[in-house]
Amino acid sequence: MDFKSEGDFMNLITWQSKANDAAERWYYDRSTLINFAKNNNFPDISTSIYGKLSALECPTKEAVDRIIGNPHWTECTCYECGQDTGIAIEFTMDIGDFRLCPDCLTKALEKMNG
Ligand SMILES: [Zn+2]
Repeated sequence: MDFKSEGDFMNLITWQSKANDAAERWYYDRSTLINFAKNNNFPDISTSIYGKLSALECPTKEAVDRIIGNPHWTECTCYECGQDTGIAIEFTMDIGDFRLCPDCLTKALEKMNG
């Protein structure tokens, strides 16, 4: 599955979905460097972060965080309340992504309903 499909403006994300596409996103961010390393017989790609992420058959948040060394690649932090609730709606825009957790989405709907 392509994590940046055309027309997907509003996506459900979870810790698990972020773990599932971590290798693909890591590659997307660093494809030039990774391909250069592959094409020039640099040290075994399987020992790199990308190699280790790619080798995960059933990625978990814990495994991805451990390989990368921080939790940023699996976080689902809400941009309104700042909590990492593990589930959010992510709005993808040219200027960057924006996420809201279920509680903040509910508050937004309550505002609309007066
Ligand atoms: Zn929130």
